[in-house]
Amino acid sequence: MTEHTPFRELDADVVVVGGGPVGTTTALTLAQGGLRVIVLEGRAATSLEARATTFHPPTLEMLDELGLAEELIRQGIIAESYQFRDAERGKIVDLEFSVLSEDTRYPFRLQVEQSVMTLMANRALEAHPLAELHNLATVTAVRPQDDHVEVEVVGGPREGVLRARHVVGADGMRSTVRSQLGIGFTGHTYPERFLVTSTSAPLHELLPDIASVNYVADPVDWHVLMRNPSGWRVLFPAPFGEETAEELLSSENVRRQFDRVLPGHDPEKIDWVTLYEVHRKVADSFRAGNVYLVGDAAHVNNPMGGMGMNSGVHDGYLLAKLLVRAGNGEDVDAELDDWARRRREVALDYVGKETEGNWSALRDTDEERRAAQRAAWEALGEDEEARRSFLLTSSMLASLRG
Ligand SMILES: Cc1cc2nc3c(=O)[nH]c(=O)nc-3n(C[C@H](O)[C@H](O)[C@H](O)COP(=O)(O)OP(=O)(O)OC[C@H]3O[C@@H](n4cnc5c(N)ncnc54)[C@H](O)[C@@H]3O)c2cc1C
Repeated sequence: MTEHTPFRELDADVVVVGGGPVGTTTALTLAQGGLRVIVLEGRAATSLEARATTFHPPTLEMLDELGLAEELIRQGIIAESYQFRDAERGKIVDLEFSVLSEDTRYPFRLQVEQSVMTLMANRALEAHPLAELHNLATVTAVRPQDDHVEVEVVGGPREGVLRARHVVGADGMRSTVRSQLGIGFTGHTYPERFLVTSTSAPLHELLPDIASVNYVADPVDWHVLMRNPSGWRVLFPAPFGEETAEELLSSENVRRQFDRVLPGHDPEKIDWVTLYEVHRKVADSFRAGNVYLVGDAAHVNNPMGGMGMNSGVHDGYLLAKLLVRAGNGEDVDAELDDWARRRREVALDYVGKETEGNWSALRDTDEERRAAQRAAWEALGEDEEARRSFLLTSSMLASLRG
């Protein structure tokens, strides 16, 4: 029989590396399940950077269990539908989430910044007797041992070597945990960057028939319009070419982009602009013994469909449920392997394919294919069962079934 390191000699049941949206929700699920958890975050405070703004129905169901959904919904905008549009022709279809009312308690997309939820999760962790959350605490090494894992920490009150039964790497795309385990991150970088802007102009007055989320197809000027509590986020493609990042980010270029797709827009209302590279990469494995990868540490994709953060929260929540059962003495080793395999499949075959499919459909230059795609989107408006099936996938409910 294997001799287990006695629990009293460990610092925690689980150390979570990274205090982003995925790390904090994973840790909260663990603490609420009765495990002692330490979250180590390298930054001084939660990043307020503009990133994900969409929360899908299954994520809201998980956040509800953690006690976060009600307040988050209060702070966000409920998108009752979303649209596919054509830059020249206007609305193609308006997909109402009400067809999902039998499938979820939350038949909508919630539009709110990921930092709002992360800060709420931070506060819940700080108040939880089984959780510790330390900022300015950077993990520099992870060493799996026979039945526990050593974690080297620089900074914060836990500086030194920590010992935990399990370690969850929720430390983002450049994951130290992943590289410490020697796990590859396979995939590609997209041939265009995304220029993300925010405007306080009421775009719903300029385009009165738009929804809160709109994907607008065009071979050159495809774009995305998403409403959130602080205004509208507008995403444009920025192909790699002769223009430097500085030129792309210049107010002249941003105004030009707005003029092309939103004539009449007041450029003075543009609040900020950012440029980022987009990747589709998946870790070669999500588990090595008692160390697990979740969220961006395990997979990254383009934001067309708002699936990155959502699938990360799902990874962490499902993993935490298994670790809680392990903490209660159950043998869940085979189920943990299954979790790692299944979540990798979701990242590759569901999130990766859906988001890439959305991006390709919006920017397609082949007129015949564009017409066929328009017809397929239009057909969804006329067939309720087809619409429900489509929305089960795009709202990520289907990713958690079967
Ligand atoms: C510009 C942009 C726009 C996006 N838009 C969308 C969108 O519309 N929809 C969507 O679903 N997703 C979107 N995403 C992706 C989404 O933001 C990520 O999927 C999400 O942030 C992943 O959360 P995470 O907790 O896994 O990782 P992160 O948010 O990256 O958090 C990781 C945390 O780990 C910490 N950390 C890293 N290394 C260490 C270490 N060694 N020790 C301690 N701490 C460490 C970091 O400081 C960070 O706080 C976007 C991303 C970007 C960059």
